[in-house]
Amino acid sequence: MTPLIDSAREADVLAAVPTQLLIGGRWRDSGDGGTLPVEDPSTGRTLVRIADATVADGDAALSAAAAAQAGWAATPPRERGEILRRSFEALVARVDELALVMTLEMGKSLAESRAEVLYAAEFFRWFSEEAVRIGGRFATSPDGRSRLLTTKRPVGPCLFITPWNFPMAMGTRKIGPAVAAGCTMVVKPASQTPLSMLLLAQILMDAGLPAGVLNVITTSSSGKVMEPLIRDPRLRKLSFTGSTPVGRRLVEQSAEQLLRMSMELGGNAPFLVFDDADLDAAIEGALTAKMRNVGQACTAANRFHVQAGVAEEFTRRFAERLSALVVGRGTEDGVDIGPLVDEAGRRKVAELVDDAVEKGASVVAGGHAIDGPGYFYAPTALANTPSTARILTEEVFGPVAPIATFTTEEEGVAAANATEYGLAAYVFTRDLSRALRVCEGLEAGMIGLNQGVISNPAAPFGGLKASGFGREGGAEGIEEYLETQYVGIAP
Ligand code: NAP
Repeated sequence: MTPLIDSAREADVLAAVPTQLLIGGRWRDSGDGGTLPVEDPSTGRTLVRIADATVADGDAALSAAAAAQAGWAATPPRERGEILRRSFEALVARVDELALVMTLEMGKSLAESRAEVLYAAEFFRWFSEEAVRIGGRFATSPDGRSRLLTTKRPVGPCLFITPWNFPMAMGTRKIGPAVAAGCTMVVKPASQTPLSMLLLAQILMDAGLPAGVLNVITTSSSGKVMEPLIRDPRLRKLSFTGSTPVGRRLVEQSAEQLLRMSMELGGNAPFLVFDDADLDAAIEGALTAKMRNVGQACTAANRFHVQAGVAEEFTRRFAERLSALVVGRGTEDGVDIGPLVDEAGRRKVAELVDDAVEKGASVVAGGHAIDGPGYFYAPTALANTPSTARILTEEVFGPVAPIATFTTEEEGVAAANATEYGLAAYVFTRDLSRALRVCEGLEAGMIGLNQGVISNPAAPFGGLKASGFGREGGAEGIEEYLETQYVGIAP
């Protein structure tokens, strides 16, 4: 395969990434001068070293956010929106450079990284438009003795903790509405993929974001550096995207200061295909819903429940498409599937496949790791996956599609809901009544009906049950960063 990027270009883009902490508008080293390495998961080599924040650095970042809060809340909404708009334009203009950095630190193909940068940018465009639409209400009380004035105000300083799988979009979904609403913030990206966030912060600063509104902390001691901030009375909101176990711990910590919270947690999305589905569309949808981000998406189709009448054909055609995907380093031409983010991720995928096979599933595509360097795993389909297989109940986070069969609609919906998670679900059917019935029966915050992609900046993204609470994007997204105040007025 031909590399799309020569290594001089890689060195150039990496040299432009800030590697320090952003605190109070200034880039600086960590208090003790510590650094941590950022690795390329397709080669295992260290790309750069970045600042490794201490507890005192975290405190300094929150102090900067708290000091900037009043001034930022008073900044005209149009001005806040214009900063987001300029940042949106810069992201679009610099998409190639940003995509390359993302692929280097995270592994997915350049095409997928480009798509993420553009998706991430759309949250800035959307919220630049929302900034000027924050409204209130005025009413007469039912007994006529009072006037009721209801207004919205920013929640206050926020803490954002983001995962490695979408290193930029998981940030802009939080930063966009917070900037629009007039909140200041401390952001902590995942230690495996901090570079996209550091570049994003630089772009926001260049677009005119005042010092202290956005502070970025990178650290190898997430728990130690974050917990004091979460327990600090100056913080008013925590928005977390990541795994359910860590989310649960952060909810407990947030109880101390009764923080406002948004929790975007793990998923285990069912993909339902009914006998009357358009199978071409279902297979295209399945490929996208499963393979986007090498299967490492919270919305990824985790398991396929296919009605008996089409199970064989769906399995055969889907397996053929998976086997044809090209696996390789994300910067190489023609690559569809990059590596998993690390060896632990790959080991978990292999373990879940082995467990399913031991319990009776049959491998119809892939089914094995691919020799490194890098953490590659072959795109895999498993047929006749038994209900006892762990892969049906645990988040796979890899390029593996377990397929199980159901007979009646009720059975299909019950199987789909048999999980503690409730983030996303996919339904393929051409029968409108069935579609509505099934969607109403599914315990999921988001449903793709006859489509394999659901993420959209104009839609409320979020889950039910152990997938968390709160919504990002849509008209709902900015509400997460606003408090309601009411004034009763004597007429
Ligand atoms: P993770 O291990 O929970 O980490 C997420 C973030 O939390 C990282 O920045 C991590 O820092 C930090 N963190 C870890 N332990 C912490 C602690 N004790 N206190 C404070 N921060 C802590 O999750 P991940 O493996 O990065 O991401 C994959 C998970 O995210 C999957 O379950 C996926 O479904 C979920 N996800 C959900 C959504 C959604 O919108 N619902 C979107 C994307 C991903 P370090 O990097 O230093 O460990």
